[in-house]
Amino acid sequence: MAAAATPAHSTDAKSNASNSTASKPTDAKPSKIAAKTLPYPHIFEPLNLGHTTLKNRIVMGSMHTGLEDRFYNYGKLAAYFAERAKGGVAMMITGGISPNRQGWLVPAGGTMNHQLDVLNHQRVTKAVHRHDSKIVMQILHSGRYGYHPFVVSASPIQSPISPFKPRQMSVNNIQSTIADYARAATLAKQAGYDGVEIMGSEGYLLNQFLSRHVNKRSDEYGGDIHGRMKFAVEIVEAVRQAVGDDFIIIFRLSMIDLVPDGNVFDEVVTVAQALQAAGVSLFNTGIGWHEARVPTIVTSVPRATFVDYTAELKKHVTIPIMAANRINMPDTAETILASGQADLIQMARPFLADPDWVNKAKKGQSDLINTCIACNQACLDHTFDNRRSTCLVNPRACYETELIYKPTKKPKKVAVVGGGVAGMSAATIAAKRGHKVTLFEAKDILGGQFNYAKVIPGKEEFFETIRYYINELKHQGVVVKLNTQVTSEMLEQGGYDHIVIATGVVPRSLVGKLEGADNPKVISYADLLSGNAAVGNTVAVIGAGGIGFDVSEYLTAAHGATLHELGAQTLKDPSYRPKAQSIKDWKKEWGVSTDAAYQTEGGLAKPEGITPVRQVFLLQRSTGRLGAGLNKTTGWVHRAHIKAHGVKQVAGVQYEKITNEGIWLTTAQGHSQLLRVDTIVVCAGQESVSALMPVLTDAKLNHSNKPSIQKGKTHYHIIGGAKLAAELDAKRAIRDGAELAARI
Ligand code: NAP
Ligand code: SF4
Repeated sequence: MAAAATPAHSTDAKSNASNSTASKPTDAKPSKIAAKTLPYPHIFEPLNLGHTTLKNRIVMGSMHTGLEDRFYNYGKLAAYFAERAKGGVAMMITGGISPNRQGWLVPAGGTMNHQLDVLNHQRVTKAVHRHDSKIVMQILHSGRYGYHPFVVSASPIQSPISPFKPRQMSVNNIQSTIADYARAATLAKQAGYDGVEIMGSEGYLLNQFLSRHVNKRSDEYGGDIHGRMKFAVEIVEAVRQAVGDDFIIIFRLSMIDLVPDGNVFDEVVTVAQALQAAGVSLFNTGIGWHEARVPTIVTSVPRATFVDYTAELKKHVTIPIMAANRINMPDTAETILASGQADLIQMARPFLADPDWVNKAKKGQSDLINTCIACNQACLDHTFDNRRSTCLVNPRACYETELIYKPTKKPKKVAVVGGGVAGMSAATIAAKRGHKVTLFEAKDILGGQFNYAKVIPGKEEFFETIRYYINELKHQGVVVKLNTQVTSEMLEQGGYDHIVIATGVVPRSLVGKLEGADNPKVISYADLLSGNAAVGNTVAVIGAGGIGFDVSEYLTAAHGATLHELGAQTLKDPSYRPKAQSIKDWKKEWGVSTDAAYQTEGGLAKPEGITPVRQVFLLQRSTGRLGAGLNKTTGWVHRAHIKAHGVKQVAGVQYEKITNEGIWLTTAQGHSQLLRVDTIVVCAGQESVSALMPVLTDAKLNHSNKPSIQKGKTHYHIIGGAKLAAELDAKRAIRDGAELAARI
């Protein structure tokens, strides 16, 4: 493979960068003061880019929030970025802004092509610069990923994730688009941005041109890699010429496409060297196309899985390069920087979860970081539903001007009953506002349903949320009483101003509803996942909702089985963090090249077969595909996972009875059948635990239609699963707790 080319286009910024820590950050020794006082010296080493300096090595990556698409939301967008700038991040990248109409992600999506757009964006840049941070505007042309009829691409090939077939771009269209990029960058500079990021990965337009997967052209913009990269290189040249040398240009380059006919690594290097010569100041890392059938950011992807590819490219370029994807905590970031695998760390979702990530790391308070658990439930799933993004663990994200945790002038005595995520959310925020809070939990462990989630293979990150809340409760001075079964009398006699009932749910039992449901071979998912029940080699799972899928993964994956052997005592230990799958095993399972300098197209390899630990039958009464109700961006991963683990999926059954032999069913075809299994795990939903919420019969109000009532001088509130078990969901539970705590 060729060595790094000398940049033909040399800017002050880049030449200075080459002489600074930017080109050889691993050689850069942190100053003595930094080494003595900072827990993460490599994170807090400034990076000199020539005309400007980044104060540390952490960059908030581009994240489409939905706010950037409408001019009337720019006040909210400014507050969102300002909060993160205040949190200490060195530089942020906006959500994708299109250079023209063809490039829209959604109809009338965020565009930078007019002087009027400059005014909107100035609100954002001014808000960020007030807090000594930098902000870069991402120019994103969606190509065939656009959700509108004007879509264009390298070739007229429809993407599997869009209903719109693209028109092939003519050479004239390519030339005018290059001019549109240069205009967008010029306007961005006028708006006060510190630079632009040109989005060239994740399967968007420039990636479509770069790869044979979509580019089937025979003209000068197609053919071999030199033709396929011509468009991207000409864009960078035009942008650099338009903005001058004192402006950052980041190019987000796909390290590994993870689609058939994707580029091989030598081609990635060729493109990178040409882009560097054309005037790029920094490379950002892109991993996989959105349509790839390999997950790249969901929680089951082990942390830092793709850093090897970034490190490999770093050997071939001389400008700084950022590592990205599944990096969410300072230890991981520091290790990557210290080992010289990358010069900067780019994280997007972790800043939705905790805007103060950097400041907490700097103060040595990483235990207080509210970690992004990579669930996608409130960010990407919202984006794909055309809803405003937020964060499951931080409902304030993108609601900074609406959900405000103002210090109280009248501190109240507050009892929170229930130490699941709803209760912990309410307790921590109420205490942060200045209330005097006591949290009661009947069990000897905090975390509620998250204790079950954290043992599911690939969901180990859920441990971090429990860890965060345990530390935050302490930090905010909440009095926590474990092993305390609260009664109505205790609450009435406690002299509380506010009582928050967050007693959650219990698994729905089928006893009394299905003959034989009290047979010893029947267990609940809670018994199983708390390590309290033995389980045989053949298992039927009743109910194919999110938990039925989770349980099927737990029962069939090797490290789920290992966990089960550890049993209840280990799992109850609040400091026990289940071990995630190794990167090597994960790559083998999903068919990703384990060689960082891969020569297979798109870096794909043949997935290795899996031997399931048990035979599992996943059953549902309704007809149709199992898991149809799972979340958009993660459901396909769960469905692929259980298929690979040999789980037999059966829809349209009726349960007749359970006997010592197994479970008797009527199949969708009307046949009566005995499924001989050792164990039956019931995953049939939940029921609320709400007995402590007073029912005011005289007012004809009860907890289900009135979540807050007053009894005497005390205000009672019910939140989370205790309020509504159906569609039990952590996103609602945490938001319920936060919204209540913000207003009491
Ligand atoms: P769920 O999604 O409501 O699924 C429970 C399933 O059990 C129902 O779909 C129903 O399917 C079946 N069922 C209900 N009553 C039954 C009865 N009396 N007898 C037999 N079967 C019965 O509940 P869940 O799986 O416990 O999940 C709870 C919530 O957690 C969901 O809202 C989900 O969003 C969330 N969650 C999501 C994930 C994920 O996305 N990976 C993981 C965990 C939890 P049939 O009637 O068709 O049989
Ligand atoms: Fe991370 Fe989930 Fe929050 Fe998205 S919703 S930022 S994935 S924790």
